Amino acid sequence: AAKQDGRGCARIFNRSMLLLLEQRENLRRNLRMALERNELYLEYQPLIRAPASVVGFEALLRWRHPEVGTIPPSVFIPIAEADGLMDEIGRWVIEEACRQATRWPSSLTVAVNLSPAQFLSGSLTDTVAQIIDAVGIRADRLELEITETVLLEQTVDNIDTLNTLNVLGIRIALDDFGTYYSSLSYLKNFPFDILKIDRYFVKDLETDRKSQTIVRSIIGMAHGLGISVTAEGVETPEQAQWLIREDCDYLQGDFLGRPLGAEATRDFVRRSPKEVIRQRGEEIGRS
Ligand code: C2E
Ligand code: MG
Ligand code: MG
Ligand code: MG
Repeated sequence: AAKQDGRGCARIFNRSMLLLLEQRENLRRNLRMALERNELYLEYQPLIRAPASVVGFEALLRWRHPEVGTIPPSVFIPIAEADGLMDEIGRWVIEEACRQATRWPSSLTVAVNLSPAQFLSGSLTDTVAQIIDAVGIRADRLELEITETVLLEQTVDNIDTLNTLNVLGIRIALDDFGTYYSSLSYLKNFPFDILKIDRYFVKDLETDRKSQTIVRSIIGMAHGLGISVTAEGVETPEQAQWLIREDCDYLQGDFLGRPLGAEATRDFVRRSPKEVIRQRGEEIGRS
């Protein structure tokens, strides 16, 4: 019986593997059409300057699949990357995010994530300059987020790209800091304006002395280099309070605001987010 169970398991395992592959293949085919069918959309998560003022939003990509429902970017972006679709999708994201931002008060910024393919395409700076021009948004309202994986090859081209974006007035954030290779030479050689500490170090800040030491050190190092720090994934008033006490510049996370659709984001800024944020500020003060 044991043997049969074993075989049964293997059969089930293979079958589910097959289903997964079919699903992936299915997603791949549908993703090619998703843009045209308006199935891709953006949500916007508030970025907060400590202690409690909204300074902008990060655009986060979603796919409203007609059968499967909403698919998160962690599932379909790797497929889009592998299929060479991320350049086109990424361009759409930048344009859509900039267009939405023109409908917010002009003091608010918009942050857009860049995929490695987009960054390495060679046409990024031209694309971004064109979009900014076409949409009519001030360059200093746009922030681009890249991860360390993009920079693995510290070529002159990479540095040029970042310098050109900087000269245009666009801010560059190093996203998910601490989770990949975290080579400190990146901080020395690339012109970052903002460093985003990954959620991995924020989630246990209340209890884990090691996370506390790491986060404290990152903040000190960044400030020494003239770089601002954002903490990702802030979920509790205690985490927010700790980060503010340690001089973290910006906070982002479900405690301060979950990602909202475009319309809800416009409502949020129109209603003046001050009230929401004042409440959060009081909670931080109390904890
Ligand atoms: P990211 O850039 O680090 O974005 C932050 C992620 O953390 C988002 O996940 C956000 O919803 C989530 N998050 C924010 N606050 C909290 C919190 O308090 N708790 C928890 N548990 N999670 C929180 P999301 O939207 O699923 O995006 C995942 C990743 O996909 C992003 O990580 C980014 O790397 C990538 N991504 C999203 N949109 C785009 C895009 O337009 N282009 C590219 N190339 N990548 C994108
Ligand atoms: Mg990001
Ligand atoms: Mg991030
Ligand atoms: Mg992250």
